[in-house]
Amino acid sequence: MDGVRYDSIIVGGGIIGLSIGWRASQLGLSVLILEKGDPPDAASAAAAGMLAPVTETTFGEDALLQLNLESARRWKGFAEELSFAGGINLADHRRGILHIALDRDQSESLSRLFEYQQELGLQVQWLSSMACRRLEPALHPSTRAGILAQGDWAVDPRSVLDALRTVLRSAGATLRHGAVVTKVKSGPSPSVRLDTGETIEAGTVVIAAGPWSGQIPGIPSRVSRAVRPVKGQILRLRPAAPMPPPITQILRTEEVYLVPRPGGEIVAGATVEEKGFDTAATAGGVFELLRAAGELVPGIREMELVEVKAGLRPGTPDNAPLLGTVEPGLVMATGHFRNGVLLAPVTADGIAELLAKGDLPAELAGFDPRRFQE
Ligand SMILES: Cc1cc2nc3c(=O)[nH]c(=O)nc-3n(C[C@H](O)[C@H](O)[C@H](O)COP(=O)(O)OP(=O)(O)OC[C@H]3O[C@@H](n4cnc5c(N)ncnc54)[C@H](O)[C@@H]3O)c2cc1C
Repeated sequence: MDGVRYDSIIVGGGIIGLSIGWRASQLGLSVLILEKGDPPDAASAAAAGMLAPVTETTFGEDALLQLNLESARRWKGFAEELSFAGGINLADHRRGILHIALDRDQSESLSRLFEYQQELGLQVQWLSSMACRRLEPALHPSTRAGILAQGDWAVDPRSVLDALRTVLRSAGATLRHGAVVTKVKSGPSPSVRLDTGETIEAGTVVIAAGPWSGQIPGIPSRVSRAVRPVKGQILRLRPAAPMPPPITQILRTEEVYLVPRPGGEIVAGATVEEKGFDTAATAGGVFELLRAAGELVPGIREMELVEVKAGLRPGTPDNAPLLGTVEPGLVMATGHFRNGVLLAPVTADGIAELLAKGDLPAELAGFDPRRFQE
């Protein structure tokens, strides 16, 4: 026992754990974040950083869409606060995301999606082939149509993580690296055990350990079994000097998305693979992404490939996060799957409120971690 008792211990220093730690400290709680060591396969550093509730609309996921939209509304303030206090300029890509159809089949399915988005009252605009190419001249000439989601945008998650580490320390939270949590205990005196044998007590323990959240002993099996890793391979491309980057607009098709970063790099992602904790970058994964990217923007083929990365998304059976109390003193904040960057602000605000006041706000109520059967 190290003798210090924290109001909240957060297991996991990815975007979710850091965001909760920041907001909880701002509410006056003493916070310790335990991070086993920023593994290269953690999703937060791999993510493209799209804040795309409208572009990513999925049939039948209406409750999740409302949560995504609410978090998107909070992102502007979150980014401004982070940029100001974290000393980092979170580049603003608020030019929307353009979802492209390249052939007749894709155009038909895009038009069904457009109708659905309109039924839901989302801000979308149908663009002709010519209008798409006027917006982004580098698009392939076979572009048939597109949906512009004007409110969707992107941030660079690595800058967000840097800023969060700065602001949460200024807010008084402690972030410990190299701290591997091997067991959690709920009940009247919640605590965590580390691989060193050390035990640390807390008012509440929050599990924000991404896809590893299901692997920490002490979490009820009904909850831990609901989290699984979903592999995603993603590429970074750089313009070959002295060429300018081929695109300025965030683009996606059914097969690939391209996110231009302010320095000229383009992120191309991402595969979705059920491979357990495997994080190997594969020739097949890279080939498929580059093929699809080249079909969307031929100029991509001239770029230098500077990084291939595989990250593990925390998936759940219904693709929605696990948010809230599981047992007295034990809270889950994981399972954000493809939208953990987008969902960071609403998760952080809601879980911090739960930690400080004991009540989970209404917008998180539908994401009870115990909703799956034993
Ligand atoms: C290729 C790819 C692209 C993506 N693109 C987007 C996107 O464009 N937009 C979007 O919103 N989302 C995107 N996502 C999803 C998003 O990245 C995730 O949902 C989000 O990062 C999850 O964050 P997290 O903090 O829960 O998990 P993680 O980032 O995995 O962090 C969990 C942390 O917990 C630590 N940990 C685990 N076990 C322990 C332990 N026992 N003790 C101590 N520490 C522990 C790990 O080391 C890790 O650092 C993408 C994901 C991938 C893989």
